[in-house]
Amino acid sequence: MSAENRIITDVVCPFCGSLCDDLEVETDGTKIVKVKKACKLGKSKIMGHERIESPLIREDGKLREATYEEAIERASQILSNSKRPLSYGWASTVCEAIEKGVHLLEEIGGVMDSTASVCHGPTVLAVQGVGAPGCTLGEVKNRADLVIFWGSNPVHAHPRHQARYSYNAKGFFSGGKEDRTLMVFDVRKTKTADKADEYVQIEPGSDYKIFSAMRTILSGNEDVVPSEVGGISKEKLIEIVDRMKKAKFGVIFGGLGLTQSRCRYKNLENVISLVDEINEHAKFTLIPMRGHYNIAGFGQVCAWETGYPFAVDFSRGYVWYNPGETTAVDVLNRKECDSFLVVAADPASNFPKGSVEHMKDIPVIQVDPYHNPTTEFADVVIPAAVAGVEAEGTAYRMDGIPLRVRKLVDVKYPSDEEIFDKMLTKVKELKGA
Ligand code: SF4
Repeated sequence: MSAENRIITDVVCPFCGSLCDDLEVETDGTKIVKVKKACKLGKSKIMGHERIESPLIREDGKLREATYEEAIERASQILSNSKRPLSYGWASTVCEAIEKGVHLLEEIGGVMDSTASVCHGPTVLAVQGVGAPGCTLGEVKNRADLVIFWGSNPVHAHPRHQARYSYNAKGFFSGGKEDRTLMVFDVRKTKTADKADEYVQIEPGSDYKIFSAMRTILSGNEDVVPSEVGGISKEKLIEIVDRMKKAKFGVIFGGLGLTQSRCRYKNLENVISLVDEINEHAKFTLIPMRGHYNIAGFGQVCAWETGYPFAVDFSRGYVWYNPGETTAVDVLNRKECDSFLVVAADPASNFPKGSVEHMKDIPVIQVDPYHNPTTEFADVVIPAAVAGVEAEGTAYRMDGIPLRVRKLVDVKYPSDEEIFDKMLTKVKELKGA
């Protein structure tokens, strides 16, 4: 290590919802030199890669370099002249920037949606309906003796989750994996399933009926359960329910296999009810395996600012919330919006074709540190500092615990918070507010 370099300890990783807070980062002040303790995903996020170097504005079909003032002015003009602006993303930035974004969308009477609407939105809907039997990851680490991953594969998506919080982690009342049972329910044998004490293969789209059968067994009415449900024999289901009832502290980590398969939020309502009912026999909890590092934070900020956690529509002068109508995919698909502000996301590469097609017909504004397929549609591109590496702020872990992500290096790029603060001021000026 050179004399000028410094090591920053207890760095929070701004990549996945695990928000590991034990990283060590070596910097020379302007760039990251080394990252220790992070998984490959976190390391690659913190080390960074090729950036959008300066703001860009599309003219005659081509993106040309611009100043930040020009780009923010152009973006503000587009937004303030729109009849129905839409904004989407916001899961990979900090709460302070999200708050500015909510105020901006309220000012322009737009629709604001997050990546939750294509990932854990169904979990959020279910929690609104039947509650959240949750706990912190710290409680899981210290107490859990039965860990269930259902429709999630942390070995690939949250690589340090098991070592830090769930299966292998040593806690006050648990010596680690020797003291825990790991069960995986999935439609295919994943890398996480390879490590499990028990892997239960289920038929695609059958989660809802499996939970219903388990609840029926739990209520003592197993006589009415058929001999096989969703690919699992009745005997096996009875054995699983019995194991869950005997747990000292059990946890189900639910993934996108639950939220984005048949029955969607109904799956979550059913598994939450199952967890509630098991609590008559054993301490049991459920935690969603949130993907983007601050998608939980978007839900918090949006709910405390508007009363609703995502897909909010300000066009009526009060907040309207109706997922399926006010979600970004649907607004685009109906060709309803006349401008699109994309923040730290890439809808062009993961939205359905019908929604992406409308992006080519309307002005698109992108705020992001990096190029992605959405850049090809963008009319204004504003490069931002990477939150959690080049800008500080608050992020919420998958279990709802807020953590402070830090600024590790000085860079030339403004933070998302600064960009939206300026955009809000400019929009107010243009609207004569
Ligand atoms: S598990 Fe997630 S939060 Fe932890 S280091 Fe890896 S990417 Fe970062």
